[in-house]
Amino acid sequence: MTTQPFQAEVRQLLDIVIHSLYTDREIFVRELVSNASDALEKLRHHQLTGAEVYQPDAATEISLTTDEENNTLTLIDTGIGLTRAELIENLGTIAHSGTRAFLDAIKENGGSTSGLIGKFGVGFYSVFMAAQEVKVFTHSYQPDAEPLVWSSDGATGYTIDDAPGQARGCRIVITLKEDAAEFAKPDRLRGILEKYSNFVPFPILLNGERVNTVEALWLKNKNEVTPEQYTEFYRFAGHAWDEPRFHLHFSADAPIQINALLFVPTENQEKWGVGQTEPGVALYCRRVLIDPKPQDFLPEWLRFLRGVVDSEDLPLNISRESMQDSALVRKLGDVIVRRLIKQLETEGAENAEKYEAFYRDFSRFIKEGIASDNRNRDLLPKLLRYESSLNDAGKLTSLPDYVTRMKEGQTEIYYQIAPNRSSIEGGPYLEAFKARDLEVLFLFEPLDDYVMTALREFDGRKFVSVDRAQIKLDDLPDATQPKGESLAEADTASLCTWLKETLGEGVSEVTTSSRLIDSPVLALQDEGAASPQFRQMMRAMNQEAPGVKVKLEINPRHPLIRNLSAAHAANPDLAKLVATQLLDNALLSAGLLDDPRDMVRRVNDIMAAALHK
Ligand code: ADP
Repeated sequence: MTTQPFQAEVRQLLDIVIHSLYTDREIFVRELVSNASDALEKLRHHQLTGAEVYQPDAATEISLTTDEENNTLTLIDTGIGLTRAELIENLGTIAHSGTRAFLDAIKENGGSTSGLIGKFGVGFYSVFMAAQEVKVFTHSYQPDAEPLVWSSDGATGYTIDDAPGQARGCRIVITLKEDAAEFAKPDRLRGILEKYSNFVPFPILLNGERVNTVEALWLKNKNEVTPEQYTEFYRFAGHAWDEPRFHLHFSADAPIQINALLFVPTENQEKWGVGQTEPGVALYCRRVLIDPKPQDFLPEWLRFLRGVVDSEDLPLNISRESMQDSALVRKLGDVIVRRLIKQLETEGAENAEKYEAFYRDFSRFIKEGIASDNRNRDLLPKLLRYESSLNDAGKLTSLPDYVTRMKEGQTEIYYQIAPNRSSIEGGPYLEAFKARDLEVLFLFEPLDDYVMTALREFDGRKFVSVDRAQIKLDDLPDATQPKGESLAEADTASLCTWLKETLGEGVSEVTTSSRLIDSPVLALQDEGAASPQFRQMMRAMNQEAPGVKVKLEINPRHPLIRNLSAAHAANPDLAKLVATQLLDNALLSAGLLDDPRDMVRRVNDIMAAALHK
């Protein structure tokens, strides 16, 4: 039989695995046992849904046998096994999405594998950390499948041969490397199995002796479960390595029978930039796994959640296809979403620091939920946190807290979206609100624009961006009126007229401002105008953003405006340059300056004129 080459990525992975640190080696046992357990779960599901199965009476268990003399370890499961096509597809290419993430993380880590293998779990191939040769004898559960053996030394490729007499499932015979003889020792192996495989829902036998107790932790009473058990179960069920951040363990009988054990991880896996994580809440019916990654059970933004939901009300033989349109499954999902949001809300109130740490890592999911989840959108705003003009940098506030601080007569919630705090504090918008003690929320992500658009209001109060022209601000009391000499009314009026003429199309109106305190000008947008973030998105999608039209407000007390008033008659050329630049400055502060190229030349001209004096 000729040797089939491994896919290039597999070779790359094997090369890393084979040269990896010895401390990570033992995880190959966990990976193989977890594959065996998955194969048994799949078999159980096929049997329950009435599929014809090869050797239907074989006991569903996993058994390991050590042979110190020959330096081998054998792992047998009676799961679904593999067909020839599956052997080629699954053990010759990268099937495991985590493996890609692993390879990317290594690149990011400057090529070092330290700690990463244990974190990611590289699946089947990790066996080559300890093996010099591996043979996978297998017979698929499909009655007409062939008994086969896949062999490889993990170097260049593999062979597939006939294996007459092989029973259903897999028998993996591992010839250990000389320096990996420890894995042929029963005590060493027992230690590993106890560490990683406590929650495998099938009996595990080591040299014929049972090592695990099979327990469905989610069916137990809360007060019978220790924190260590929760963590261990989270790691097992979520294929995770970190600590769970929060867990939610509850049971209910109405409106639907449910036992759930859910976890919010510490790590946001998507921050590795390897795309979306797969949904991770498995659906069970009376301890029988129906679907490990149900697609339409929970809304997509909850894909970071891990754990188990078990409901006796689900029909055992529900197929994965019919689940998608099952009203029951949706109802189950609704219960979970509501309970989870409620719990996060409670955490936010009672345990603010811990909640905020979660929020900093996972806010994107909440915002995504607001933008996309019509069913649950209204439940989510209470989970939002933002910086605000009344708080120091880094401190977050919630929307209900904002509402309690609203001034008498204030009917709207004000916000500004900008990349960071200093650009808001240095820009022209905030000063009007500060002078009136009105709180402004600081939103730092383009995604927040979707959040505001999707929500429109909170608690009956409209969200309004500070750059909107429709905001009506009270006159400032005399004591807080800005000081300083102001242009005469007539001069201001004529300057406004001249500016409107000079600045042309992009400016709908020029007026004196009730908003400006320290800045010379300000650009305001009409209520329906596209936000800067929306324009940016349109451009990113290669669509033409609508032309910008703003209302320009000027500050008649600002020296620049006063001097411009004098200059527009005396030195019209320079005055025109300055006016155009003032508009660009205002647009820049508004995030509306699409093309800054003209600005550079103009600033050079203005500087030349300034030095010429
Ligand atoms: P993962 O298990 O994360 O998908 P692996 O590299 O460990 O990645 O395994 C690749 C695939 O090979 C599995 O998805 C599964 O389809 C198949 N496989 C592995 N071990 C077994 C087994 N014991 N029985 C049946 N199929 C298996």
